[in-house]
Amino acid sequence: MTADGHFRVPPPVNEPIRAYAPGDPHRKSLKARLAELTDARTDVPMQIGGERRWGASKGEIRSPHRKELAIAQYAAGASKDFDDAVEAALKARRMWAATSYQERAAVLLRAAALLAGPWRDTINAATMLGQSKTVHQAEIDAACETVDFWRYNAYFGDQLLTQQPFNDGTAWNRLEYRPLEGFVFAVSPFNFTSIAGNLPTAAALMGNTVVFKPATQTLLVCHFLMELLIEAGLPPGVINMVSGSAAKISEQVIAHERLVGIHFTGSTEVFQGMWREVGQNVERYRTYPRLVGETGGKDFIVAHHTADVEALAVAIGRGGFEYQGQKCSAASRVYVPASLWPDIEERTVAMLRDIRVGDVTDFRNFMGAVIDARSFEKISGYLDHARQTATVIQGGGAASETGYFVEPTLVRTTDPASRLLREEIFGPVVTVYVYPDAEWDATLDLIDRTSPYALTGAVFARERGVLGAAAARLRQAAGNFYLNDKPTGAMVAQQPFGGGRASGTNDKAGSPLNLIRWVSPRTIKETFAPAHDFRYPFMDAE
Ligand code: NAD
Repeated sequence: MTADGHFRVPPPVNEPIRAYAPGDPHRKSLKARLAELTDARTDVPMQIGGERRWGASKGEIRSPHRKELAIAQYAAGASKDFDDAVEAALKARRMWAATSYQERAAVLLRAAALLAGPWRDTINAATMLGQSKTVHQAEIDAACETVDFWRYNAYFGDQLLTQQPFNDGTAWNRLEYRPLEGFVFAVSPFNFTSIAGNLPTAAALMGNTVVFKPATQTLLVCHFLMELLIEAGLPPGVINMVSGSAAKISEQVIAHERLVGIHFTGSTEVFQGMWREVGQNVERYRTYPRLVGETGGKDFIVAHHTADVEALAVAIGRGGFEYQGQKCSAASRVYVPASLWPDIEERTVAMLRDIRVGDVTDFRNFMGAVIDARSFEKISGYLDHARQTATVIQGGGAASETGYFVEPTLVRTTDPASRLLREEIFGPVVTVYVYPDAEWDATLDLIDRTSPYALTGAVFARERGVLGAAAARLRQAAGNFYLNDKPTGAMVAQQPFGGGRASGTNDKAGSPLNLIRWVSPRTIKETFAPAHDFRYPFMDAE
């Protein structure tokens, strides 16, 4: 559309969360879609340059809570497919970069409306079946957060473009927000559908074209996200989805001379490997790639002796165990003063005993299964370690006959340097360290140095001064810091998300700070009356 007018993206609001309580008509339609997708064994091809393509071989995706159930078969690509995906992205570059910001934003706004409306059940149901999320966890992630990313990014990108230089009257200075000169590689994790929705589209919104590699476990929902984006008007080649061996795809794509950026979310180890590969290829690139990675966490809750005990127990229950503790922000180490421990222990244990674990299509369950066999083995290893070196207060069981189920587990250790307090477990295991009430300051220092991560953290206290002092002392210990709230549940545009240290580059997904990484600004100075004489007045004779 060519037209005169400063068209502004309308200011959004966060997508309202549906409750799906008994009697709610949305519950009925979602259950119907769940039943359809359970039996559909959906085909998931790659999407390369507008072509739905099958690779050399096929793989199967099974529900984590029902191992025998194959919900999809996906294309496993080979080297030629990955090359073609890069070429398709490069081919679409010129067209997409020449498409106006308003047009690009309109695609995302339409996609958001489709997801909020007719596609909502499909995206939620695919997330429940593929990633074992309860209906509430699917709704806040796959539906609401994805919609929020798309709407707010469209708005924030528009705001960014209005940031322009000053002028002195003799010239017009302009800042042009160019897309990067190549393609962006987007790689998403298993645990949030919204991240798969955000990583490729944030770069595409700013005019870039993308090779997108989702986590294999999420391919069912990513297939639907791609189809939804196509329906919303995303042109062929702008986002090219590939699947197959992560290491092979990554090695091949990162070695390409036209790589201009990596938009990654996942484990610290994988991101560090990518960073190393970029380093090895640095002389090959036409332009320095932007590396944006949000990675692991070892998120804490610390309670002062003035804390509200009931609020603290609920924060442990929800912050530690929702989505089976598989949120990068999940509370996994809790520091409690000795005076409050008996009360906290009693309440938390009572709550955990109340939690039902099972098939997420049974809406009475609060927790589903952990994502796969590898994750189940890893968590089981930590449970063994807990039994050997600490006290398992509640839970500790794990069974994988029908699905990968782990009980919500509360552990107490007396070793402040325990692996259980240092390493990311990524499962429903929360470790408590009880400290003497008088050692509050020393405990804050202990929290700061115990783990290499710095993603989220929470402080519970009633005493006002304590909150401010803790925030100051733990200033670098978390990129998202909570006062009297659980450390999970960040909302797009309300709590911009990301952490430092080993937790990532802290580029705050769903905010202008992230979008700025996907442009290379050009300054244009237009002088209205250029000089006609090379000499300056100071050179004149006295
Ligand atoms: P992961 O690192 O195993 O996988 C992430 C992505 O990288 C997937 O697409 C995977 O296929 C790919 N991958 C795996 N091995 C690779 C390799 N050798 N080379 C290139 N790519 C490779 O992570 P995951 O298990 O999917 O997700 C969980 C992790 O993500 C946790 O560490 C969690 O803390 C982190 N996470 C962080 C945030 C955040 O915002 N900080 C958000 C969500 C998840």
